[in-house]
Amino acid sequence: MEIAKRRGFFWPSFSLYGGESGFYDFGPVGTLLKDRFLRLFRQSYLREGGIFIDTPTVTPKRVFQASGHLEKFEDLAVKCSRCGRYDRIDSSLKKSGIARETTTLEDAISLIDEGKLICAYCGGKIVSAEMMSQMFRVERGKGYEPYYLRPETAQGIFVNFKLLLNQNRGKLPMIVCQYGKGYRNEISPRQALLRQREFFMAEVEVFLDPEAGWTRDPPEDVVLTLLQNSGNKLRASAKNAHESGVIANRGMAYFIYITYSILRKCGIPEDGIRFRQHRKSELAHYARDAWDAEAVIDDDWVEIVGIADRGDYDLRKHSDFSGEPLSAEGGAVPVVVEPAYGVDRITMAVLSSSYYVRENGFKVMRLAPEISPYIVAVLPLQIRDGLDAIARELFAKLMNLNDYVAYDESGSIGRRYARQDEIGTPYCITVDYQTKEDSTVTIRERDSTSQIRVKIDDLTGYPILQNTKLMKELSALSLSASKK
Ligand code: AMP
Repeated sequence: MEIAKRRGFFWPSFSLYGGESGFYDFGPVGTLLKDRFLRLFRQSYLREGGIFIDTPTVTPKRVFQASGHLEKFEDLAVKCSRCGRYDRIDSSLKKSGIARETTTLEDAISLIDEGKLICAYCGGKIVSAEMMSQMFRVERGKGYEPYYLRPETAQGIFVNFKLLLNQNRGKLPMIVCQYGKGYRNEISPRQALLRQREFFMAEVEVFLDPEAGWTRDPPEDVVLTLLQNSGNKLRASAKNAHESGVIANRGMAYFIYITYSILRKCGIPEDGIRFRQHRKSELAHYARDAWDAEAVIDDDWVEIVGIADRGDYDLRKHSDFSGEPLSAEGGAVPVVVEPAYGVDRITMAVLSSSYYVRENGFKVMRLAPEISPYIVAVLPLQIRDGLDAIARELFAKLMNLNDYVAYDESGSIGRRYARQDEIGTPYCITVDYQTKEDSTVTIRERDSTSQIRVKIDDLTGYPILQNTKLMKELSALSLSASKK
């Protein structure tokens, strides 16, 4: 958190006015990291034939009446007698040492009557429980119904089903993606980016023919950790998990696999990702089955992506409410598999799994080159004797090949390396006096801090990540560092 703020990944919003819980700004470096995640996301789904749309965040009431969010999108809140604060029931249960799979309002009230619940903030006695809507209302003016802020981007896709299917030339499966802000009036926002009132989502609705479903199998050689709602834990490929009935639906299995491969590309380690199936009582009002991708953040398993089997719930609801039949050719109502990525939580998972302290106490973000804000930084050893001019020229050339290149000439070279290490830049290219003689530069690999010398022409002929010989040498350095 200290690096996140000091180096510009993210920080609490509105601090000028005392701050406001549940809101965070992404700083200059964090904005680039998020951009790189979105590129990975886009690439992965374009490859699957996905199409993208962008719809309003402010939404008329009837959309959420139809979707059931107005009635059902709520959380169980408890109130403390001492500090007067409201909190989510699960925080209070944890603090009170009560293990509960799920709680209903009745259950919470009887726990309160027995005097068993205490406040997670101050330890005071909990006195009441109630359901609280997570929907944000936006006043529109006299005589008009209020608007609501979307709690998920998905409804913007469902209400456009017919237009989208037309864009997709009537074909199923149809994969529609949308990313942007989502808003939930969380009772007690905490843990930085993990629980905010405004956050960034990347969602995918896969519309399938209810008979044919999803037909392609995920590969067999990618093995996942799966936690069934029965408590059973296993290691299996998504394909085998589907065939043995662990994952009921092939579409769910396929997109669990796609999600795993995106998270791995972000550099989250294999043993830091698992998929946990929802218990029946935990399912959202629209879901028949759901698996969360969870990652380790601060020693806890946290949901970072929700993958839900929404069946035909949403299309049927919108069909009923709008009076417009929402079906595919032949009249069948498609069923939907939805992977929903929480971009903020993924950012937290990426940063927390890559944070590392060297023996000398220096801090490093070991970010994968696919997600780091910058892939390379160009540094002149000195800002004189023409070194800076050469470095600037090299920077300009690299920028033609790739957007994620930094140029830094301020401070000693050691401090600049330390800065790049903390923001996770995998490679630093340094222009020194020898460059003037033989047109070579050094490349320093972040994890090993080892350097190799290469010709400038070898760097600028092609993007650094596509120079396979160079990448092999550099990743060998990184590998030797991780073995240490
Ligand atoms: P859901 O539709 O509830 O499955 O949410 C999809 C994803 O959005 C989750 O997996 C989280 O990563 C993310 N998410 C949900 N609520 C919040 C929140 N309050 N703050 C940040 N991220 C959230």
